[in-house]
Amino acid sequence: MKIIADYDGSSIDILKNNQEANSIELSLKKENGKYSQYYNFIIENNESKEGSIFIHNIKLSKYYDKDSIYLPYFKTNQKWERIKKEQFNVSGDKLQIRIAPMQKGEISLVPRYTQEDLNKFIQTIKQHSFIKIKEDIVTKIEIGEQTNPSIFIIGRQHPGETLSSFFIEGMINSIIENKLYEKYHFILYPIVNTIGVKTGCHRYVNGIDFNRSWSNKNPPKEIKYLKEELSAYNIKYFIDVHNDEITPIDYIRANGNFYKNQIADLKILKSMSPVYRLIRGIIKQGKIVDVHSKTAREYVRKKYKCTSILIELSMNSEDVLCKNKGYNFIKELCDKSR
Ligand SMILES: [Zn+2]
Repeated sequence: MKIIADYDGSSIDILKNNQEANSIELSLKKENGKYSQYYNFIIENNESKEGSIFIHNIKLSKYYDKDSIYLPYFKTNQKWERIKKEQFNVSGDKLQIRIAPMQKGEISLVPRYTQEDLNKFIQTIKQHSFIKIKEDIVTKIEIGEQTNPSIFIIGRQHPGETLSSFFIEGMINSIIENKLYEKYHFILYPIVNTIGVKTGCHRYVNGIDFNRSWSNKNPPKEIKYLKEELSAYNIKYFIDVHNDEITPIDYIRANGNFYKNQIADLKILKSMSPVYRLIRGIIKQGKIVDVHSKTAREYVRKKYKCTSILIELSMNSEDVLCKNKGYNFIKELCDKSR
């Protein structure tokens, strides 16, 4: 068997290739001194017998939780599908995935989504006269007129959280099909952490958490760029889309009271106090969240006094489902706000 992991958005370390047993030992990549969660690689079994791959260090992952070991995706013929339960096994600290004879495909914790996917998507929408695309430090999609209130949307500050890009694609489709741009001005940045997305990082790039760098003196150039962009518009809503590694449900956190309990299928949770967040961080993820550095949502809310919304999609959700959720979410948000 052969592993390929040299393309955009791939992420895995190869420990040992045991040709005789037709098995390969792999490991989650380390980032910022700890094992990450996201993994992605292509497997080619050119043998006429079944093969096995083992992914080590699952329990040493910063994001490990016994209830959050998800069935990964397998992509053959351009379609992402969950791996079958009988192909998958967890024992000790490793995941085992059985590969059928002569089977080839891409294995990923969540469907891979890179700049190339975004560029392909842009080809399908750029013919509209009301859409402007700007290739800048990060790709910017502007829909509608600046004379209307602005809705500023970002995704992939954390590169491994690929489902947020699918959610944003769904939002854009909804903005176009439901003519939401007639009342609002949308500015979208579906891939903020361009380098991390290219190199297959999960949360950190060179030890930096983009979402915790907004109040830093010297944030990454992408965040600096977004902060300048924000100051040019009259922001009504700021929306930052993420995936949560642990929770089985999608949720929203926001200030303001324009909503009740949920928008579309997304539950609204009360804002976490820094203390609660710290405790949750320690207990659930075994990590200490730096409560002193502001997240994008906190920074923007304070500076622009707008409604600042954090969306956390469950890492256990699915690409097509997330597109639909994005589609319905933005429609309902705009409808309710009229
Ligand atoms: Zn995130």
